[in-house]
Amino acid sequence: MNNYYISFLFILGLLFSPNNQIISQSQNYSCGQHIVLKKLLKDSVFNSFYEKEQKSLVNKSQNLNLNNRGIVYKIPVVFHIIHNNGVEKIDRDQVIDALQILNRDLRALRADTATVDTLFKPLIADIEVEFVLATKSPDGSCFNGTTMTESVYSYNNGGINGSDQVNDIMMYNNVYQGNWPGNQYLNVFVCGSVGTGIAGYTNYPSGFFGNTMNNGVWLRHDYCGSIGTGSPSGSKTFVHEIGHWLNLPHTWGSTNDPGLATNCNSDDGVSDTPNTIGSNWCNYNEVTCGPVANIENHMEYSSCRKMFTQGQKSRMRTALNSTTGGRSNLITPSNHFATGIDAPAPFCEVDFFANRYVTCSGDSIYFEDYSFHNPISWDWNFQGASPNTSNLESTYAKYQLPGVYDVSLTASGDSINFITETKNESVVVMNYVGDQLPYYQGFENVNFNAPEWISNDLNWSITDEVSYNGSYCLKLQNQGLAEGTKQTLESKTLNLSDSSKAYFTFKYAYARKNSSNNDFLRILGSYDCGKTWATRKIIYTNQLITAADQNNFIPTYSEWKEANIVSLIGPFCVSNFRFKFEFNSGGGNNLYIDNINISYGNTTGTDSFINQEISVYPNPSSDFLKISAFKNIDEITIYDIMGKQVYSNKTNTKTLDLNISNFKNGYYSIQIKVGEFIKVKSFIKN
Ligand SMILES: [Zn+2]
Repeated sequence: MNNYYISFLFILGLLFSPNNQIISQSQNYSCGQHIVLKKLLKDSVFNSFYEKEQKSLVNKSQNLNLNNRGIVYKIPVVFHIIHNNGVEKIDRDQVIDALQILNRDLRALRADTATVDTLFKPLIADIEVEFVLATKSPDGSCFNGTTMTESVYSYNNGGINGSDQVNDIMMYNNVYQGNWPGNQYLNVFVCGSVGTGIAGYTNYPSGFFGNTMNNGVWLRHDYCGSIGTGSPSGSKTFVHEIGHWLNLPHTWGSTNDPGLATNCNSDDGVSDTPNTIGSNWCNYNEVTCGPVANIENHMEYSSCRKMFTQGQKSRMRTALNSTTGGRSNLITPSNHFATGIDAPAPFCEVDFFANRYVTCSGDSIYFEDYSFHNPISWDWNFQGASPNTSNLESTYAKYQLPGVYDVSLTASGDSINFITETKNESVVVMNYVGDQLPYYQGFENVNFNAPEWISNDLNWSITDEVSYNGSYCLKLQNQGLAEGTKQTLESKTLNLSDSSKAYFTFKYAYARKNSSNNDFLRILGSYDCGKTWATRKIIYTNQLITAADQNNFIPTYSEWKEANIVSLIGPFCVSNFRFKFEFNSGGGNNLYIDNINISYGNTTGTDSFINQEISVYPNPSSDFLKISAFKNIDEITIYDIMGKQVYSNKTNTKTLDLNISNFKNGYYSIQIKVGEFIKVKSFIKN
């Protein structure tokens, strides 16, 4: 099948009443359905499907009329969340909320159903259809009804074409890679965006799409559910799209242009929804085709939409009883068995969620059970936290000391069989009061592991290929990375609280391979230990270039530049400041970084701290610490976590091995005095 056609039907763009609170959002959302439908209908293959199928479904709808009612049809549903690690990576609660709202509205159980215009109250229909989260993937394995896919295609800000999104979900989702047949599941694709100005879209039932996933529903994440990134008014989008998915046109007919007088020439093929021009808002006195319109219908664009009619119910259930587009297979007992919605699903996997994995000493992390299905007992183990165990379904654990810790959860669905999930070294706790300024990092003798440095991938490393000075520098392996991917590297905490301004500089080197490369580097800062980040500087490609286009770039001494971040002021001057490099890959050479300086004095353009490196390693250590400095060390003093001095000694050497084997296990800070210069570092004895 030609991908071109996958997604070109029935787009909902939401336009709300001027009185509606989310008017600012709605102004950006208009519809493109009439444009794409026009395109689609130019294809003779689609056309032949469309005309035949619509004729057949409408005829059956009239014939069936009130038949086969009283049975609640259950449809397996899967939510595929395709994200690029931003807000669009919605959580399970938001998915459950969207599903509950959909089922509530399909069953005519909205609280505001009571407020429907008296004229239309007798027509309110309980569709007797419910969507149930699937518990088996296409290969029969157990899952929780959602899949996650990390993809740059999460955001589609161009024309309406969801094929890139579906292709990436098929290839990279975390549950089952391959087709999730559209005659077995309703596939819902939750995306960052689904086309310029579009909230959601889907297709009428049609054999044109075969049993592929492409007859699903695309939703922008903020139109999925009412919580999280969603909103109560936005949550109606899903209900509206399911109307289309079960063959309902808009009340004014099969276009995306409400409000046109010419809409009186077309109808929605439903006998009890009056012919109308359609409306974007709740104008109960609208001049329309006849005396009145069902402005509160789910297939309107008005913000007060809240009901389906009996006639729409017939049309929807006819679609569901038809083989067209594979709809009738969804509700069969054999498909309920295949997708696991026929019976309570077995307890099969333990998993958990944490609101963050990187934090500062003294902070609490929230842990929530994500096990499935239906666990009844929980046994948490939080290494290094208080409490360090819990039997609650969800709980907070407080981390007092810097370090790297394991978390494990053992759960059971029957108190007989237990499954354990351990996330080793998953929690990174940094010092709430970070290293004193001046901070200098030349990547000589550096411990590149958490909690010193945290990276989202393995593409950052310390290299001796080249350096601005010394023997080592930081390298980002950019060659071979997909364009559009982001590589991040986060610092530990630094104490900037002694002033209201700090200076931040570093050296970097980069070259394009050719003029089409558009790599760029963003530098972010956090004033709350990494809970939130704000951009401090973006070095775009033109500024990032330090040498001519070439392949396999390795900089010479003159091919380094200095970056100067001038915006570490005011709120950023806290005791737990952190910085982050975020490299956006655009096809160029590797990036090199060296000599990071953060100080209260302006060191721009100078190398004043370059020779002032003092290092303490390995860390953690159980026996010896190696301490080295740029000149003779005068004095070393060590304090425990309570601030008590546990060691002090005067020396007269540039390097020394300090025996710490008699120290108690735990966190220490070490103060090294070199002439007038005092450096405070930390280490863990283990
Ligand atoms: Zn629509």
